[in-house]
Amino acid sequence: MSRPVNNSVRPSVVIVGAGPRGTGLIERIAANAPELYGDAPLDLHLVDPHPPGGGRIWRRDQSPLLWMNSTAEDVTMFTDESVEQAGPVRPGPSLAEWAAAVRAGEIAVDPGLAEAVAALGPRDFAGRRLQSAYLSWVYERSVASLPPSVAVHEHRRPAVRVSGSRAGRQQVWLAGRPAPLLADLVVLALGHLESELPPEQQELSDFAARHGLVHLPPAFTADSDLSALRPGEPVLVRGFGLAFVDLMVLLTEGRGGRYVEGADGQLTYRPSGREPVLHVGSRRGVPYHSKIGYELSGERPPVPRFFGPAQVDELLARPGGVDFRRDVWPLIGKELGFAHYHRLFTAHPERTRMNWADFEEEYAAADPGSPALGALAGAAVPDPADRLDPDALDHPLAGVRYPDGEALQEGLRGWIEADLARRHDPAHSPDLAVFLALLSVYGQLVRIGDRGPWWHGFFSYLASGPPGPRLRQLLALSRAGVVRFLGAGTTVTADERRGVFRAGSAAVPGEWVAARALVEARLPEPTVERTRDPLLRALYADGAAATPAGLLAVDPADARILDRAGRPHPRRFALGPHTDARSGGAFARPRTNAPAFRQNDATARALLTFLRARATRTVPASPRTVTVPAARTAPTPEDSHAADH
Ligand SMILES: Cc1cc2nc3c(=O)[nH]c(=O)nc-3n(C[C@H](O)[C@H](O)[C@H](O)COP(=O)(O)OP(=O)(O)OC[C@H]3O[C@@H](n4cnc5c(N)ncnc54)[C@H](O)[C@@H]3O)c2cc1C
Repeated sequence: MSRPVNNSVRPSVVIVGAGPRGTGLIERIAANAPELYGDAPLDLHLVDPHPPGGGRIWRRDQSPLLWMNSTAEDVTMFTDESVEQAGPVRPGPSLAEWAAAVRAGEIAVDPGLAEAVAALGPRDFAGRRLQSAYLSWVYERSVASLPPSVAVHEHRRPAVRVSGSRAGRQQVWLAGRPAPLLADLVVLALGHLESELPPEQQELSDFAARHGLVHLPPAFTADSDLSALRPGEPVLVRGFGLAFVDLMVLLTEGRGGRYVEGADGQLTYRPSGREPVLHVGSRRGVPYHSKIGYELSGERPPVPRFFGPAQVDELLARPGGVDFRRDVWPLIGKELGFAHYHRLFTAHPERTRMNWADFEEEYAAADPGSPALGALAGAAVPDPADRLDPDALDHPLAGVRYPDGEALQEGLRGWIEADLARRHDPAHSPDLAVFLALLSVYGQLVRIGDRGPWWHGFFSYLASGPPGPRLRQLLALSRAGVVRFLGAGTTVTADERRGVFRAGSAAVPGEWVAARALVEARLPEPTVERTRDPLLRALYADGAAATPAGLLAVDPADARILDRAGRPHPRRFALGPHTDARSGGAFARPRTNAPAFRQNDATARALLTFLRARATRTVPASPRTVTVPAARTAPTPEDSHAADH
């Protein structure tokens, strides 16, 4: 076995994962370096098999039909004055502003994207390829703004292992490279990971193999091979979130179908004949709520109010630990309700029969989760449709039954049409207030750590749904018979006797659909124990702590990885959706004090502070330009230097 190459005393940081999170961290290192690190030398190694900026999820090379589910004005990679961080704000454009600068000729992009840039308004949903170009640009700009004494080295290959004692330099081993990179500090920004199949999925896969059926387990849909799903054949789809939307797009327009818009604005789907028939169901039975299609006018909901730093402090101080449903959920319900009623009373007072000050006082006095809150709303808000019941939101079709499958299709189309209408109608602006309160809650939850999959699903269902135009397409596909709804409480069984999958739901008791193919339309659950990422697996075997929900446990203060005794590793950090600080999972919205920015800033400062202490001990202070990176024997072509200054 080859030995680590010890050819440098230059401080070195290895960032594994060059997607949005790794890129955001570089932006923060650049912002904080002048204050904390001066012009001391540093090697910054960036390891990812995919191009930096977009990384795997946002790579250029994917279907042009796939969109973001955030509007262009709601996506930014740059901090602003709202962000509570110790480091400086370095302003930069949101995706919408960047597109405007491209249109103005101030920024150049691949000519193949010109049409997409020209069409992108601030409230439109960009294609993923366009977002890829934005992220590449952010990456290049962040690298260019690093001090000249920092050399960046890109390694286009996976990292497979990190070794090294707590006290010493770390070794980061890359696939196909005999010698490791030496690192004073390592940051794992690994993002969304594949996992070994959990037992239930393995059984379904084995069943499919035995009977010559198709079973596509949870995956990043753009990477799935969909060719086994044959034209005209029924396909059962479990999951009605964004992975379903991607699947729907790739199997319809992606197979040559197209939409035509009628004079009344309604879409009609013209099939290519190569589509399968998608029978889609889930626990709720409905798609995620449409993105809200209007802007907030007037006052923002004054949150945090009932779930803010003080409540989180109190929760964290509880001796017996925190149980989400028992301790946290009632506080969240009270916070969402407060945002909802504040908006209703201030923007639509004619739909209330109390004055706001009295309501607010009584609301504040009632215990979270208590019947008193419901009773107060009952007395003050005459129309039940204007009241908020967070528990009911999670079960939109509770108890709804249909006489037959056709009635179910019509019923579900009606539900989606009503949702689209409501989410584009400012008369329902309390929905927008609840959305903003959900974001606030999400930000507060960072400090509590892992909230488990239920909360994540609830948040996504309300706050991270598809663009309105996608739901209009879904309606057209339903009318064309290409998509069929299964209803709430969908169950899927493996029928061993007949050798098929079967799905049904309580919505139409006794009605079942048989199919040769089953697609699980969702991302794999995070799991440190069963991840397919060898690096993370080895880290776990080496003593890193995982939460019950399978996330890597990190110190909320600076994202240092914790061991099973709760000790932060002095030299290893992790940021992003595979950690229990995953609140920063989505792109930051401008002016929302986004948790991901706060985390990136804290981590960048922890890195630089650590390195500064080391640099002053071991490295001559004079600035210099270095082109030979640490820890490698000879330059190789894939180690392209994005920024060897
Ligand atoms: C399909 C999809 C669509 C989304 N759409 C939106 C949206 O529209 N709006 C929004 O706000 N959010 C969206 N999100 C959420 C969020 O923006 C993304 O999750 C974002 O990509 C997270 O960035 P990340 O860098 O943490 O992780 P990732 O984007 O997953 O990047 C991690 C990187 O690490 C690399 N990596 C992993 N393991 C290794 C290893 N061992 N060695 C080397 N490299 C490694 C990967 O190749 C990858 O490039 C979406 C997420 C998904 C999955």
